[in-house]
Amino acid sequence: MLRPRTWVLVLGALACVALHVTLLALGSEHIKLLSFAFLILAPLLAGLASFALARQSGVMRGRWNALGLAMMLWAAGMASTSIDELVHALFNTPTTPSVLLFVLYAVPLVFALASENHEDRFVRWTDAALALALGGLFAIYTLTFSTVQGTHPAGVEHLRFMFDVENLFLALFALGRWVTSEDSERRRYFAVLGRYAVVYLLVAAYVNHVDNSAYGQWMDAVIPVPFLLLLIDVLRRAPDLDSKRLLVPKRWTQVARIASPLILPLALLAVATMLISHRPALAGVGFVVATVGYGVRTIRVQMRSSEEQEHLARLSDLDGLTGVANRRRFDDSLAREWMRARRNGDWISLLLLDIDHFKKLNDQWGHHAGDQGIRLVAGTLASSLHRGSGMLARYGGEEFAVILPGLASDEARAVGEDMRLAVERMGPVAVDVPVMLTISVGVASVRAMPEGSALALVKLADRALYNAKNAGRNNVVVSDGFELTAPAS
Ligand code: GH3
Ligand code: MG
Ligand code: MG
Repeated sequence: MLRPRTWVLVLGALACVALHVTLLALGSEHIKLLSFAFLILAPLLAGLASFALARQSGVMRGRWNALGLAMMLWAAGMASTSIDELVHALFNTPTTPSVLLFVLYAVPLVFALASENHEDRFVRWTDAALALALGGLFAIYTLTFSTVQGTHPAGVEHLRFMFDVENLFLALFALGRWVTSEDSERRRYFAVLGRYAVVYLLVAAYVNHVDNSAYGQWMDAVIPVPFLLLLIDVLRRAPDLDSKRLLVPKRWTQVARIASPLILPLALLAVATMLISHRPALAGVGFVVATVGYGVRTIRVQMRSSEEQEHLARLSDLDGLTGVANRRRFDDSLAREWMRARRNGDWISLLLLDIDHFKKLNDQWGHHAGDQGIRLVAGTLASSLHRGSGMLARYGGEEFAVILPGLASDEARAVGEDMRLAVERMGPVAVDVPVMLTISVGVASVRAMPEGSALALVKLADRALYNAKNAGRNNVVVSDGFELTAPAS
């Protein structure tokens, strides 16, 4: 059901067509001039409406502007044609400027179909360069068959062929992007563009192949139809689309999003192919630009995506609150170091550190102060570890762990003692939280354990920590577990 606003727009467009038809029925030379006004105003208004919509749009701003620009180029093409017809009445075929403007009108549309605004500036500029190259090839093709004096009859066929290819290309890709759109803003844009491009394709095919009558005839009333439809489509209030609902399986939408940048080089390849028998060298340039441009773009996108992956991999290894290694990374590192120590017959030590009476801080000063305390302790432990080697991780809530490869129990105890002292001396949790924190440390060291897993080491350190708590907290206790290991040879 159409909304009232849409009805008003439809009736306005119908009135416009009716007025145009009435004028054409009068059929005089002056009418031709007035008829041109309709042919120029329809795309001009559609273009202005697109520019206006661009100002209210977010992510689709560039694309609405591209549609507006395309309409302006078309309107300029028609203005140029009217000058050909009315001022230079000696030519009976369109001159180069007119044809060129009609041809170039497709360039911003191809750009809008292909380029995604979430890409970085380099990629967008590469797309823009490909679009410029497309415009260049279009211009060369047009100049091959059309001169300022007009277009010779054989050339007209070639140009018609190019228009057909161009219009079909736009309609197919616009429809393709419509059905594979992932969100309502994109879907609206490509729906508007798709509907317009299909109607334009049909009208252009009819004008070019079926009814070749001169301007000022009945055909004039048909030409503005795609632009009036576009005008209505842009001005009517957008229907409330369900942004979550997809028209096709999700996988297709992903393929379309990733493959859409191919539209630009594809357009270039299509025009270069049409040029090949007329201007082989320039067609070759077109092939090279399409391939290299797309290659450069792909390299850049791949590089950025691998940088992002590395960044995510780094993040997935870190604890969100403290920035030190998280439990996952701790487990991996411990398993690796354990295997290495076994292979080389080295010592390996583990410290487990737990903040004393931490619940009190949480209960009295709130969870936020508790978090601040955990962060402060993590920072202190990290900077005291910097002096030696080893890996600090957040093991759980307010517990930390330090893996010390190659360190025997005396050295490990010294590291633990350093850390305990550093926390004791670090001062209150915050200016407004006058709580002094301490930690208890359990130390376990083993050497060349022929059997067993790293879990045994964790259990020893955990028992030592338990003993440290029982012994009054704020101290370091070394597990006697290392005595169980094979004697050093
Ligand atoms: P003890 O000296 O025996 O270690 O006493 P404690 O109060 O520190 O006891 P325990 O080690 O069992 O305390 C763990 C508390 O740490 C329980 C939990 O509420 C708190 N906790 C765990 N993770 C977080 C966290 O990410 N932020 C905050 N604010 N508190 C946490
Ligand atoms: Mg504790
Ligand atoms: Mg604890």
